[in-house]
Amino acid sequence: LDTMDYGPALESDAIARDWLAHGPFGHFINGQFTAPGALFDSRNPARDEVLAQVTQGTAQDVDAAVSAARAAFPAWSGLSGHARARHLYAIARQIQKRERLFAVLETLDNGKPLREARDIDVPLAVRHFYHHAGWAELGAEEFVGQGPHGVCGQIIPWNFPLLMLAWKIAPALAAGNTVVLKPAEYTPLTALLFAEICIEAGLPAGVVNIVTGDGTTGAALVAHSGVDKIAFTGSTNVGREIRRATAGSGKALTLELGGKSPFIVFADADLDAAVEGVVDAIWFNQGEVCCAGSRILVAEAVAAQFEAKLRARMDSLRVGEPLDKSTDIGAIVHPRQLARIRELVAQGQAAGGVLYQGRAPEGCFFPPALMVQVSPANPCVSEEIFGPVAVLMTFRTPEEAVELANTTRYGLAASIWSENLTLAMDIAARVKAGVVWINATNLFDANAPFGGMRESGFGREGARSGMGAYLRPMRIIAPAPAPGPLAPLPQAAP
Ligand code: NAD
Repeated sequence: LDTMDYGPALESDAIARDWLAHGPFGHFINGQFTAPGALFDSRNPARDEVLAQVTQGTAQDVDAAVSAARAAFPAWSGLSGHARARHLYAIARQIQKRERLFAVLETLDNGKPLREARDIDVPLAVRHFYHHAGWAELGAEEFVGQGPHGVCGQIIPWNFPLLMLAWKIAPALAAGNTVVLKPAEYTPLTALLFAEICIEAGLPAGVVNIVTGDGTTGAALVAHSGVDKIAFTGSTNVGREIRRATAGSGKALTLELGGKSPFIVFADADLDAAVEGVVDAIWFNQGEVCCAGSRILVAEAVAAQFEAKLRARMDSLRVGEPLDKSTDIGAIVHPRQLARIRELVAQGQAAGGVLYQGRAPEGCFFPPALMVQVSPANPCVSEEIFGPVAVLMTFRTPEEAVELANTTRYGLAASIWSENLTLAMDIAARVKAGVVWINATNLFDANAPFGGMRESGFGREGARSGMGAYLRPMRIIAPAPAPGPLAPLPQAAP
């Protein structure tokens, strides 16, 4: 486990190396790539190497992108829903044709296991475009009296780069908006490959624009007066800044922020299934998941048994080269994120938490970890770690489980495990979360609205309510015709 064999990895990433050779990359504005400007590196965290150089977006770049999106808006929003749907179908199809390149590139840039990029990120992104093609077709009948906002500024994080792009762009286009999207600075590459897809799919110039850069580029997009709606996914702190920056501006806003989701195991749960649930909840995507089940709450009666099973399962998880298809946990996205995880874990231990860890190779990796003997005040219980670290706490009664579950400022997701569905449904109604899974976790679908409450943000993505976030009410009131002379009343019969 401690040494990595790059043999099979090198073979399968050749496909991405050819594409990366096109760099350095400019932005995608008005249907074409701009000349590269001041550059920054996009790196492969697993091998500590530069993958490509990408342009740091300036306020002028953002302005050019917003102008292109504004100019494209009348024609795009004026198309029939059917015509827009054809474009969305074409995009979905083109991504499918290049799914292997998308999966390998995502794995190289983010560090996630190729198995996950291939089986989850890319197919789900495709599904979002197909699904929203359907909404574009139905739009005129289903959303009577509603119209697009105009230009949408979309800012996305690094944990699911292509998938978050799809969650943002597909509904925006289906509803008739045009888009300026800024990918995260750690993971801009699949967004640039997506720009090529827009060209291949014949999308009119300016409908989708992609500007790369860091938070200053994002802030310029938020501040731009030509933007009608901001959609943001990322940290709660930046979400708060964006809410302040847009207050009073008339811009529509949706925020998809952090979480500290409870994973509740009752005594009558199928414990083996629940252990596999934990693997999906906190060790999927290195725990870099906003709805990760990071707080395991277990009924006291089965806690010792559950912890033993969980530890045994942890020991079998393979951490390492993300391109190796037998890898369960890949690299942490960036050394800065790794340092943040280590710091929070150290704080948790200093507060009395006892850490149990699997093994990981040297480099930008963090082993699967479980912290026990924690109080609600422990930083590992209260703070979003965004890494493969779960805390385990126990409860005695359903009431205590609900109280512990809701002892957080977040409210994104919850997972409940019990063979008693009446109990599970009762608890689901009392847990403060935008999404609740019963005997399951981290299930996503384009037709299931996703989003949070409290400090996890507001607004939904996916399904009908997700479409609603890209539409605004439009009442068209025509002046009533001028009243003519009144007709004489019929004479009453004598
Ligand atoms: P972040 O919020 O700093 O970045 C997310 C996106 O916002 C990036 O594209 C970034 O460039 C941009 N951004 C940063 N500052 C901005 C500003 N002032 N105005 C506009 N855009 C801005 O998140 P991060 O640094 O990538 O990660 C930090 C923490 O955020 C993580 O440790 C995790 O807790 C959380 N996070 C949550 C999610 C989620 O899906 N909810 C995703 C990634 C990270």
